[in-house]
Amino acid sequence: MSFWPSVAVATPAHGGLAPTLSYRSESVLAPGSLVRVPLGSREVLGVVWSCPDTPPEGLDPGLARPVAAVLDGLPPLAASWRQLVGFAARYYQRSVGEIALSALPPALRDLDNTRLQRRLRRLASARSAAGAAATSPAAPELSPEQAQALTALAGAQRPVLLHGATGSGKTEVYLRATERALASGPTAQVLVMVPEINLTPQLEARFRARFDTAFGSGALVCMHSGMTPAQRLQAWLAAHCGQARIVLGTRMAIFASLPGLRLIVVDEEHDPSYKSQDGARYSARDLAVYRARQESEVPDEEAGGGGPDTAPARCQVLLGSATPSLESWHAATQGRYQRVDMPGRIGGGGLPPLRLVDMNHQPKGALVSPPLLAAMQARIARGEQCLILLNRRGYAPVLSCGACDWKSSCPHCSAYRVFHKTDRTLRCHHCGFTQRVPRACPDCGNLDIAPIGRGTEQLEEQLAALLADVRRADGSPARVARMDADTTRARGSLEAQLEALHSGEVDVLVGTQMVAKGHDFRRITLVASINADAALFAADYRAPERLFALLMQAAGRAGRDARHSGASEMWVQTWHPQHPLFAALARHDYPGFAAAQLAERQAAGMPPFGFQALLRADARTQQAAQAFLNGAAAAAAGLPGGDQVTLYPAVPLPVQRVANVERAQLLVESGSRPALQRFLAAWQPLLLQARALPQARGLIRFAVDVDPLSV
Ligand code: ADP
Ligand code: ZN
Ligand code: ZN
Repeated sequence: MSFWPSVAVATPAHGGLAPTLSYRSESVLAPGSLVRVPLGSREVLGVVWSCPDTPPEGLDPGLARPVAAVLDGLPPLAASWRQLVGFAARYYQRSVGEIALSALPPALRDLDNTRLQRRLRRLASARSAAGAAATSPAAPELSPEQAQALTALAGAQRPVLLHGATGSGKTEVYLRATERALASGPTAQVLVMVPEINLTPQLEARFRARFDTAFGSGALVCMHSGMTPAQRLQAWLAAHCGQARIVLGTRMAIFASLPGLRLIVVDEEHDPSYKSQDGARYSARDLAVYRARQESEVPDEEAGGGGPDTAPARCQVLLGSATPSLESWHAATQGRYQRVDMPGRIGGGGLPPLRLVDMNHQPKGALVSPPLLAAMQARIARGEQCLILLNRRGYAPVLSCGACDWKSSCPHCSAYRVFHKTDRTLRCHHCGFTQRVPRACPDCGNLDIAPIGRGTEQLEEQLAALLADVRRADGSPARVARMDADTTRARGSLEAQLEALHSGEVDVLVGTQMVAKGHDFRRITLVASINADAALFAADYRAPERLFALLMQAAGRAGRDARHSGASEMWVQTWHPQHPLFAALARHDYPGFAAAQLAERQAAGMPPFGFQALLRADARTQQAAQAFLNGAAAAAAGLPGGDQVTLYPAVPLPVQRVANVERAQLLVESGSRPALQRFLAAWQPLLLQARALPQARGLIRFAVDVDPLSV
């Protein structure tokens, strides 16, 4: 007897192919099985989606190709995992095969059965080595707020939004929640997500310290893009086969196969890094909420027991942040999420007060104002540390000729190349194009070409000069260091730099927003933002939300050690000290800020009160990109859901050309998420037709971005 498995394979995003392809098999294959199947002239990895015993309609049984091999010894991917993938594909307008296959570790694609069996044996022996539970190292006694949060979580039937001040001990809540979830059964698993790879080492150390003794070091695995293919494969297998009880990872980990998933923690849930910016543009935070609900609903057909009467075990989701996204905050005010507050800091220290420096009253051209500089000097003398933020790396964002109009434009992008003084290069931060700085103006030969504006390199240089005479308590000169994407590129350099800070070797750390996030710096008592004004008046309606979160997070780096917290301060230099954002920041008043922002969003029909998608196009010319978008819009007339959807005219992106590719986008808006979804689903096939329009010749690619983070 023959079966006709439909298999998800990695198909091109807009290939116009069916979501899954049909094959023939002489034996029945469980849905979720991993198989190798022919595709064109290649043999590829696929996931069995269903396995009917009659050929699907329209399939000529004689033409169906046989499944080449089944990967033995691997349990099938659970129904709930397949549902997650199916949902993500539908919601984000991608193919099931693309999402399914990109969710699997790349090394699985070229794994034959022999090597797979070897890996599985290695995994099994690691498990027996883990041994029996020993006593866990002592956990601190919970603060009353932490205890309350955990009680609320235990009873919660909805997603829980943990709104905890920086330093309120959210991580301890995650640890206890994890402990409880793991105790709920011998196969229970927990997924903990962080926004950036940088933050994994710190969190991994804390989870290992708590759980390694009891569960063995193999019970925790990491998943992020900084791992080698072999490491990723091993981590994936450990999670899929149940040896790993805790998976700690970045957004990609949301698709990990976790058959015993009982808890998902999303740390710093407001962070934009949870939204993928290429390929399938999913939000790992939103998928976490979906996944938790759905894991609680789908009985797993393969998990034994699970008859129709047995309710599936509950899976909870815990979103944590000191500055939640307005989406999550709004969901909590509506009662869709349950909010739990932890306003106090561990040790009772307060949040650092805000010192606004009105730059209108400072000496002209001062990068660091005199009062801020004085405050820094005092701290260094006392043996305390300062963190100075400037959200622009490099020495200067542009070089310019004083005699003619020459500027350091990138020949391939509509952007300037940034001057990096350390290696004397002009570097494009969009396409990477790098050249040595010219000695003279390339256009007129003038020798006087000068940097305009400031980046972290320049700030580091200036501070080193300004603080040259300052002595630390022990008489040695003050030391300034810089931490940004440039200084942390090499493997291990981030750890080394963090260590230099923790050990007290460094007095002043200059950096971009990457240093403001999540790190637990003990001796920093002054945090300053040098120039944040651009975000106050940005066209992007999310800019204030981001700035507020950044400054709150940055302030949270100060005074984490209660011994110093009394003297901690957050400084902000601004030309607009009257801006209401700073008033809310001075009160550490996230709820007040959120309410004001939400009122504005509601009045304008913006998310979370309205729903958006972008159709993006890349083309050889701007005309072709826009012609495709406008052609697609014209074709959309009369589509289902269309009466509730507004299409805006195509516009170029703010940075219109990158690496010689012209970029444009078209905004789609609706007051109803289901209507928007219906519309996008119906629109998809028409996009393929619009691509073929003669005026769209030169179109390179297009993509739909659902719930975009910047429009
Ligand atoms: P958050 O993530 O909310 O900013 P952390 O979880 O990093 O805060 O906690 C801040 C500090 O307080 C950490 O050094 C942590 O070890 C410590 N801490 C957390 N909970 C407790 C507790 N119940 N008792 C003592 N120290 C705690
Ligand atoms: Zn010139
Ligand atoms: Zn460029």
